[in-house]
Amino acid sequence: MSTQISLQETRQLLEKANTIILVSHIGPDGDTLGSTLALKEALEQMGKKVTAMVDDNISSTYNFLPGIGSYVTPKEGDKFKVDLLVIIDASSLDRAGIIPSCVDAPHMLNIDHHISNTHYAEYLWLDDKAAATGEIILSLLKELPITITKSMAICLYVAIATDCGYFKYSNTTAQTMRSAAELLEYGIEPNTISDALELKSKATINLLKIVLNTITYYGNGRIATIEITHENYDESVDTDSFIYYPRYIEGVDVAVSFKAVESKVTRVSMRSRSLDVSKIALAFNGGGHKRAAGCTIYLPLPQAKEKLLEALEKGLETSHD
Ligand code: 5GP
Ligand code: MN
Repeated sequence: MSTQISLQETRQLLEKANTIILVSHIGPDGDTLGSTLALKEALEQMGKKVTAMVDDNISSTYNFLPGIGSYVTPKEGDKFKVDLLVIIDASSLDRAGIIPSCVDAPHMLNIDHHISNTHYAEYLWLDDKAAATGEIILSLLKELPITITKSMAICLYVAIATDCGYFKYSNTTAQTMRSAAELLEYGIEPNTISDALELKSKATINLLKIVLNTITYYGNGRIATIEITHENYDESVDTDSFIYYPRYIEGVDVAVSFKAVESKVTRVSMRSRSLDVSKIALAFNGGGHKRAAGCTIYLPLPQAKEKLLEALEKGLETSHD
């Protein structure tokens, strides 16, 4: 069980450490990457030696983020000794991949906003009302003895905007918009950032054509699923945006994407309007938020789909949200 700490206690922990490893979660998204890179630049301004790590490939979509080239991906057997290990935007330790096993650090801090957080780190700064970890990091940077730069602002804007669907999702609060507004004061351009993030490769659109044909409805039309079979799966093709299509169908409460990343490993993404999908994801050792969650099921896609649909249909029957 973690000791839950405040902004000021987090600041003290960071100030005491001279060497720090910041970890982004596997399946890295805009929030974990932007939050990590902004915090890295801030801590470097304070004279600390900071390494950003991720145990996964980063989608080329994020190539424009300042500092993205500095990520280190450790190999099995690597050893790093630092004063503090900070895990960013990851609700469970498995999301850090092999990194914790490669790092020798006297303290571990987790900065997160997931309601499903499993309290795995020694210290936890959790704000489950924040739309993005980027919002939490911005509040921290304002307390540190540093100057916030345009590159930090770009990273934090990407973190916030991507996790709240460009201010469309139910997690968007007045504070989310105030945070974004503050970041605009540093001269960032939301249109340029959105273009960089939303531009699709032809390969993505070609795969989308196939995937849209797989849309199927369950639970009297309240569930819509899409599938990326192992045959169609290509690691280099970005499919993160595909879930938006079933999500925006009239009458659909829960949209689910099944992706056969291996013949017997299926990645699941869920989006919902009322059902708490973080609970469903947790039941499959995943996690996330009430309205956006995911998990990995170690079964071929058809079996994984059957098991998940069973849980979802039960969830919809018993939910009265
Ligand atoms: P996505 O569907 O975009 O991959 O993830 C939606 C949300 O659920 C994100 O906040 C993400 O961090 C979380 N999430 C997705 N997959 C997993 C998982 O396997 N484990 C945990 N703990 N969280 C997940
Ligand atoms: Mn996040």
